[in-house]
Amino acid sequence: MKVLVVNAGSSSIKYQVFDMTDESVLAKGLVDRVGIPGTTLEHKPTGKDEVVIKRDLPDHTEGMKLVLDVLVNPEYGCIKSMDEIGAVGHRVVHGGEDFAESVVIDDHVKKVIKDCFEIAPLHNPPNLMGIEACQALMTNVPHVAVFDTAFHQTMEAANYMYALPYEVYEKFRVRRYGFHGTSHYYVAHRASEMLGKPYEDCKIITLHLGNGASMAAIKGGKVVDTSMGFTPLEGLVMGTRSGDIDPAIVFYLMEKLEMKSSEANSYFNKKAGMLGLSGVSNDLRDILEAAKAGNQRANIALDVYYNKVKGYIGNYMAKLNGCDCLVFTAGVGENGYDVRECICQDLDYLGVKMDTEKNKVRGKEVDVATDDSKVRIFVIPTNEELVIARDTLRLSK
Ligand code: AMP
Repeated sequence: MKVLVVNAGSSSIKYQVFDMTDESVLAKGLVDRVGIPGTTLEHKPTGKDEVVIKRDLPDHTEGMKLVLDVLVNPEYGCIKSMDEIGAVGHRVVHGGEDFAESVVIDDHVKKVIKDCFEIAPLHNPPNLMGIEACQALMTNVPHVAVFDTAFHQTMEAANYMYALPYEVYEKFRVRRYGFHGTSHYYVAHRASEMLGKPYEDCKIITLHLGNGASMAAIKGGKVVDTSMGFTPLEGLVMGTRSGDIDPAIVFYLMEKLEMKSSEANSYFNKKAGMLGLSGVSNDLRDILEAAKAGNQRANIALDVYYNKVKGYIGNYMAKLNGCDCLVFTAGVGENGYDVRECICQDLDYLGVKMDTEKNKVRGKEVDVATDDSKVRIFVIPTNEELVIARDTLRLSK
């Protein structure tokens, strides 16, 4: 069966087509600036040249129409007709407490996705727009939702509850949910294969370090803890998000900078993190370069970033009572070997010893620990789309 995977954001649609007989990718692409003048579609059919189409598109339905046209194009498409697509898998960021697994989308599922608009205002509305656009165009195939929060639903109350009056959990669903679950799930399972141990017997710490970043501690096949919380703002220092801070800073700066709550939300999500601290960029490559050239703020920003990650490694080592492996993934984790080296420095007391020569790799699945390291250090390129395609196939049979 061929499966279409769709990841719809507020102004973008990412897609991949998988042939599930061998899990190969037939084509992938991105429609950018949906609903904004200057819409662009970049389509990469496997084994053929990339195609770029510029055409202003007012909404996700028009964006999806263009994607489907491109997929069946005789010159650069990857299928002869849409009948070849047996199912569609949709990335959905928030499934609340209702979904611990992927599900076939029906009216109830759409209602739950809608109910989560309030707690995921940036992500769930465009995710649902993507689903409805695809459902309107592909009426005869199952559509499956794969949630970023689902994997973390195995967490226990000890780690998902905040020390706030209990009724805010009951009334407003304020708790830790965790995100990037599909990525943590994929790399944790690959790590158990690389360890040669059943997944349920492994203790794993996963580090998804991209523009957004989160970590997870996994034991007995369950997520024990994860660094993102009620929203993706909590936890590590990210490209433009502050991560953990004293919550009193929010009230203080709202007064000092005369911000409304929506402005404060945007401030801590978009102006903080590595961008705000370094004053250079949200892209770690630019910050690393600036730091090498002697930019002091860039150096401080990197030290804050490394310290935060190290702190979570210590936290999770304590919660898991040690671990079998650390797993680095996503843009920074897969490619930034100098970042990995700085994070793993001086962790030998915890059994983590890196082979800094082996570590000089980008984007490859590899163990970069020394032979005598008690804890393995894996670099594993993530593949969220493959997880979505596999779940979609499984639920469509
Ligand atoms: P992602 O959100 O997973 O796509 O990751 C994107 C981030 O990866 C970018 O913002 C870069 O900061 C980071 N990145 C990509 N390549 C490297 C590299 N060689 N060294 C450090 N960071 C990198």
